[in-house]
Amino acid sequence: MPDLHADPHLPAGLDAGTVVSLDDTDEIDTDVLIIGSGMGGGTLAWALRESGARVLVVERGGFLPREPENSQPEEMYLKGRYKNAGLWYDGRTGEPFEPGAYYWVGGNTKFYGASLPRFRRSDFVEVKHQEGRTRAWPFSYDDLEPFYSQVERLFDVHGQIGEDPTEPPHSSPYPFPPLAHEPTVERFADSLRSQGLHPFHTPNALNVLTQADRVAVTTADGCPDNTGMKSEAENKVVLPALRDGVKIMVQTEVTRLLTSPDGRRVIAAEARHQGRTIRINATRVALAAGAVNSAALLLRSATRAQPYGLGNSSGLLGRNYMVHNSTFFVGVNPLRTNTTKWQKTLGINDFYEAGDGTPYPLGNLQMLGKLQAPMLKPARSWAPMQALKFMSGRSLDIYLTSEDLPSRDNRVRVDGERILIDWTPTNVSAHHELVRRVTKMVRKAGYPLIFKQQMGIATNSHMCGTAVAGHDPADSVLDASCRSHDIENLWLADASFFPSSAALNPALTIAANALRIAPSVAAGLPT
Ligand SMILES: Cc1cc2nc3c(=O)[nH]c(=O)nc-3n(C[C@H](O)[C@H](O)[C@H](O)COP(=O)(O)OP(=O)(O)OC[C@H]3O[C@@H](n4cnc5c(N)ncnc54)[C@H](O)[C@@H]3O)c2cc1C
Repeated sequence: MPDLHADPHLPAGLDAGTVVSLDDTDEIDTDVLIIGSGMGGGTLAWALRESGARVLVVERGGFLPREPENSQPEEMYLKGRYKNAGLWYDGRTGEPFEPGAYYWVGGNTKFYGASLPRFRRSDFVEVKHQEGRTRAWPFSYDDLEPFYSQVERLFDVHGQIGEDPTEPPHSSPYPFPPLAHEPTVERFADSLRSQGLHPFHTPNALNVLTQADRVAVTTADGCPDNTGMKSEAENKVVLPALRDGVKIMVQTEVTRLLTSPDGRRVIAAEARHQGRTIRINATRVALAAGAVNSAALLLRSATRAQPYGLGNSSGLLGRNYMVHNSTFFVGVNPLRTNTTKWQKTLGINDFYEAGDGTPYPLGNLQMLGKLQAPMLKPARSWAPMQALKFMSGRSLDIYLTSEDLPSRDNRVRVDGERILIDWTPTNVSAHHELVRRVTKMVRKAGYPLIFKQQMGIATNSHMCGTAVAGHDPADSVLDASCRSHDIENLWLADASFFPSSAALNPALTIAANALRIAPSVAAGLPT
């Protein structure tokens, strides 16, 4: 197997042969093939690094260059420097859109805001919402709890137990104390407390110690970070796994899975590699290409025996696509500047679950890293940059999320190479009520001008649910260990398995689940 070290962006310290290139053969064998190196695939690779099995990660993107432009919002938001997912299509209208997906080693975590909350106990059971019900998970919060603690250590999560009334029990404290609020956020927290609410320090995987550190990562919620202070999948799990013997093929897109004649096993994957089609023979396959691409790959791998997609005897593959109802919410006080560098330190879950005065769950409030003028420009192209600078220098920037309920009609479809998304938001009235309540509280906190924008089909960075896990093969795609009910050596290790979306950031749960299912993926392999 020849080695490729031609990638100029290859991180230092990898052994020769770790990044695999097929120059003189079109075929390669492995014990475990992991497709996708994001939060799910990367964490699974890390968990299997000492299993004794040959583990190969195949990633369609390359290593993201480490360069000054990483933290320049003009490059990210105005020039689209790192956008490489092409176009997906609204299945209802046929309109193309640029998805919130990125194809690089580390997946979407290269761009994420590193907010890493645990889902609440109530997120694992069926809950009645204003416009429907969530689906119960086939395992409980307690089953996942030890893995949450492990990921919090792996990703150096900073947080504080005991401030948020919805916080579920932890078997160990956060490894690092919470990130302190900067003065503007502290003042907001004081106002919220005086309004009878319970603001808490959000769990965050940003290793900042000083204000200078915060200046250096001020754009890291949305942009890549070249300081190493943001824990993401590439630096915390993929590179450590590669240093411990896992191999990776980059710029290699898996296009189809091939099955045994009886359709019960995946025997190989076909992939595009250096302009040609190669074959990767694998004993076990873990698909972690992100909730949309994983479903799309299985749908495209249909055979005469499985004409509606691999592992789709339930008819649910691609369905139950969820993304959260979300709103960017900005409060402005023209007389008060906001010099905060890392604002993503505060959250509120007072309306997360039903209770007094809240008949149905409404969702979560969290702060955004810190909005800057170039980030606002794409949504307000008519506004002069100077006006946007004035506004973002005085704004309190908030992200509101409510649960998007599972629906068979919200789904991923494929049409040849094209990805189609059918999505009609669900549970919208609950989201509007959350926005109403937050409008009142932000005005009371001294921000009279409110600007808000509810996100549409293109804001799908929290995508999940396209291959739901459950106990009943007639009503789910995967079993409780995220293995296909139909195909005995196929697991899904990304957000596809989520039976419901919760209303919190998903990445910690994706990673904890990857650790949870790792023993099932490795069981019985040669060690
Ligand atoms: C701007 C932004 C901010 C976010 N902020 C947060 C946050 O603060 N907290 C949080 O919890 N979450 C956040 N998220 C979401 C979080 O990043 C995702 O939920 C998480 O990364 C999903 O993990 P995954 O393993 O399902 O997929 P991904 O991390 O997207 O990984 C999928 C990988 O598969 C690769 N791939 C796709 N198709 C193929 C193929 N056919 N062959 C080979 N490889 C393939 C992709 O290139 C990618 O590397 C944010 C996302 C974005 C975009």
